[in-house]
Parts: sequence; structure tokens; C-alpha cells
Amino acid sequence: MPGSDPNEDRAAFMSLDCVDPLMPAKSDEDMQNEVMRRIRDFNMTMVAFGDAEILHNWVEAAPPGRIIPGIGISNATEMTVDAFRDSLSNGFYKVMAEVAPQYQGISPSDPALDPYFAIAEEMNIPVGIHMGTGGNGMANLTQPKYRASLGDPFLLEDLLARHPKMKIWVQHSGYPMVEHMIALMGANAYVYVDISGMIWSYPLDDVHYYIQRMVRAGFGKRIMYGTDFMMWPRLFETSMGVIEHAQYLSEGQKRDILFNNAARFFRMDESQFEWPEDK
Ligand SMILES: [Zn+2]
Repeated sequence: MPGSDPNEDRAAFMSLDCVDPLMPAKSDEDMQNEVMRRIRDFNMTMVAFGDAEILHNWVEAAPPGRIIPGIGISNATEMTVDAFRDSLSNGFYKVMAEVAPQYQGISPSDPALDPYFAIAEEMNIPVGIHMGTGGNGMANLTQPKYRASLGDPFLLEDLLARHPKMKIWVQHSGYPMVEHMIALMGANAYVYVDISGMIWSYPLDDVHYYIQRMVRAGFGKRIMYGTDFMMWPRLFETSMGVIEHAQYLSEGQKRDILFNNAARFFRMDESQFEWPEDK
């Protein structure tokens, strides 16, 4: 977060001026290979979303169930309600994510999005909603409609009240609004969070403070690991290391964040996964 001036050149988003820079994948094929290798080496299951063709390729290339495809909608102008229902009905997509109305200047409780959430609730499909973090200067450098205030976890309350059977997780944990995140989870027993994005894009001390704050408040069973690796495959290793090396977490708490909580939330069959200590 450099101190800069609106009348000077904008600050660079990325820097190679570090000891061991993470390099992006070179092509779609390189990306797929890097992801598949990690699925195997780390015994990993991923919720993934984005370009439909690439998503289909990944599902094809991965062992069964290891890619959980998601389809998101952030603005009613993107897709009609009927088209959205059709997309979910064919069975390929298992989650509704990433839903990111914050980038569109829209609240997640906006009535325009309500019919889409109603479909997810009716079909018992988990919903992932982007709340909070966007990156430095999001509103005036890259996404003019983005509003920090629209990442406030409290904005989910009306939506949750209207859809009591909807299963949701808050992507990026509403960073940096931890007090509101904790209050929302306290009031709503079924809300989970993931720590994707925020885990690597802010100073490490603050990332640890944030995760520890949620664990200390009693929500260690509702925090799921996430990367949001975008185009840098090695972010999996560096970000998982944040949890592996967290001294305030017990081995059991780490396992909850890295596996148990997501297995419970996404109703995965735990018997499919073999862990070293189970051998
Ligand atoms: Zn996001």
C-alpha cells in the first residue's frame, strides 16, 4: 500500500523486486498441469470457478470429485433467472460461487439478486459470496464501482433471514471487518468463512491476527482454507504454509481449517481421503 498521489503514475500492482518472486503460469495448459500436480501431491480438492471451457477441462483431468465447479452471478444483468436455473440443473456445477456484487456496487441483500439465491436454496447448493478484501486502491485504480462498505458482513443479514435454508460461506472472511464477521457468525449458526485471498495479500502479522481472532471467538470449526491463487500456482504452497506454521493453532485446529470443516460444509465423503496418520 504505497503512499501515492492521484496526479502521478499509478503504483505498480506487482513487483519482482523480491528474493523469490512467484511466477504466473505460462499458458492454460501449464496452469492445468500445475494445478493437477498439486491436487495429487497435496491430496487437494478445489472449489474452482471461471471460464466454463477451462473448468470442464479441469474436471476431466482431475480424479473424480477433486474439482468442485462453481458458477457465480454478481449482477442480474449477467444472466436471466431461468438461464441460471438451467445452468445449475444440468448437474455440472456444484456450488454457486463466486458471487461478488461488491465489485458492482451492489449489496448481497439487493432484491435483484434474490431470485438467484432462492434457486440455490431450493436446490440445496452451497453459495460463496465475496465480502471484504479487494486489494489496494480497488475503487480508484481498477474497479470504479467497488465500495469497501459493501463488503460489510452485516449486509448478509437480510439475505440470510430471507433464505433460512441457504448454505453460505463468506469468501475472504469479510476481511478486514473481523468484528462484524464474528457477530454475523454468532447470530447465524450455518455461516462458514474461507480465508482465501486475504491469506496472501496483506501483511502476514495482520493475516494471523485475523484468523486467530476468529478462532479465539470460537469459530475454529467454521473456517475453511482457501487460496484464490489466480494465476500463480505456487501460491498454494506459500499460503498453506501460513496455516501449517501458525503457532497459535493446534494440530487439530489446522486439520479443521485445511480439511475437516470443508469436508463437512461441502458434504464430502471423508472415506475417500487417506491421511498419513490414518495409514
Ligand atoms: Zn473474491
